Amino acid sequence: MRDSRSLLVSLTVIAMTACGEAGHDAETQSLLAPGMDPTELQSRVEKFESSDIDFDDSALEPWERAVISRLVEASDVMHELFAMQVWSDNPEWKDRLARYAGPGADAARAYFDLMVGPWDRLEHDEPFLDVGPRPPGAGYYPADLTKADFDVWIEAHPTDRDAFTSYFTVIRRTGTSGGLEAVPYSEFYSQPLERAAALLREAADLSQNPSLSDYLRKRAAAFATNDYYQSDIAWMDIRDSRIEPTIGPYEVYEDQLFGYKAAFESFITVADADAGAELQQLKDWLPSLERQLPIEDRYKNPNRRFESPIRVVDEVYAGGDTRAGVQTTAFNLPNDPRVHEQKGSKKVMLRNVSRAKFDRILTPIAQQLLAPDLAVDVAFQPWFTNVVMHELAHGLGPTTVTLPSGNRVGVNQALREHYSSIEEAKADVTGLHCLTVLSSKGLYSPEFLKQAFVGHLADLFRAVRFGPTDAHGKANLLQFDWLLEKNAIVYDVESRTLSADLDAVMAANRELATVILTIQARGDYDAAAALLEKYGSSVPAELQAMLDRLGAVPVDIRPHYMVREKMANWN
Ligand code: ZN
Repeated sequence: MRDSRSLLVSLTVIAMTACGEAGHDAETQSLLAPGMDPTELQSRVEKFESSDIDFDDSALEPWERAVISRLVEASDVMHELFAMQVWSDNPEWKDRLARYAGPGADAARAYFDLMVGPWDRLEHDEPFLDVGPRPPGAGYYPADLTKADFDVWIEAHPTDRDAFTSYFTVIRRTGTSGGLEAVPYSEFYSQPLERAAALLREAADLSQNPSLSDYLRKRAAAFATNDYYQSDIAWMDIRDSRIEPTIGPYEVYEDQLFGYKAAFESFITVADADAGAELQQLKDWLPSLERQLPIEDRYKNPNRRFESPIRVVDEVYAGGDTRAGVQTTAFNLPNDPRVHEQKGSKKVMLRNVSRAKFDRILTPIAQQLLAPDLAVDVAFQPWFTNVVMHELAHGLGPTTVTLPSGNRVGVNQALREHYSSIEEAKADVTGLHCLTVLSSKGLYSPEFLKQAFVGHLADLFRAVRFGPTDAHGKANLLQFDWLLEKNAIVYDVESRTLSADLDAVMAANRELATVILTIQARGDYDAAAALLEKYGSSVPAELQAMLDRLGAVPVDIRPHYMVREKMANWN
């Protein structure tokens, strides 16, 4: 893909220079942001370690390969669309960078590709090219539009509200009068969307799985009608298909002005039979695991629905939003609440992307920070089973509580701003507890269980590496502090590594599960606040000293999709 693309770019450049722009064949004046040192930019690029993203194609039918080829092409269209959504000048800057020969040229091109634009997604969107600050509304709104301008317009034109706040419109100025209009994606991006739709229809015709064809046809239609509802429903209904694509406008994070506008992206994935079988086994155990939660029986929820639409797949290819900056390892879609009501949502876990991060990030962290007798026990499969169990554990435990006022509310409403951190910690400690239960039933060996716990210890470091800023960071810090207080883990001053007594870790984990699940069962806001205040609020000095040693460990991976090489051999 990179080869064919750079060829296209250079052809464009030749065409442009041939049109008589003498002297502009190579830009040598610096394009870097003022004060941006080329060496610093290069080191930012190197924090992303290139990693092959591969999958098993040996069992794929010829029609499946043909479908995948079309979907890879359609994903490139999503990537092109997303680049325009980030910034309307992105295509022009891509060309400029292609002929740029000034300071830091290679780093500038590489980082621009990684970030899909000239702003550093890891450094609060500061520009690394000389383009000024990122417009908060990305390319969705006029660059100079403020929140107030938007609100004033809606107030004066109330009938515009739906179109203006739609997921699937861009806002543009009309003429010179300062008016505003909402243009549907289907119109604004009509040409690329028509190309993508044609590829999806081709794939639908090639597909021998009716539910897959149905999704692809409905999604192709949505690109033209701008109505995604039916195709979101069809996505939930994909059945017995080894190929699972997710393609279209989904997440709204790129719109930092309002969070209204959906960014184009694509995940092309294939299911793995073994992973699917293990997942099904875990799901079958959920009712029994609920009964064996370490809380009083009256807090258990044996009659809850144990529907967990989770899939474990390998990523074949990805494009658009998800490829910008840090790579996604799991996603939960769709976002349309009408689809949630009718069909729920689906969690898709990307096993091979997780594996790449495990190899490139988690393993080096474990080797540097865990005592050698622990570090040898870090292994992918137990770690990944634990990650899957974490997701399933979100579906265990109390969901509603009766407050002293007599009102019945969701646990999230009772715990308010502490809910996310408490819920993430719950999923961690409950998931681990469930693995001990399953191990006692003979599903997993004692060795496997031990490795799952050690992998989790390494994960605690990974999650707090960038500070306890989000719910996951806080949840992990809470566990670290808890285990430290119980002397289940010990910081060794001499070797500057972490040792652990794994039996004590398992016992302390169970205790913490009891505390957290009971807080949730009672909807005890004050206890949640106190727990997070005592354990999850600051990074202990010994932990910080350890994290400071992780400078050389990559921040993330740079995916190299092996499907390109495979496709060359498929024909
Ligand atoms: Zn979670």
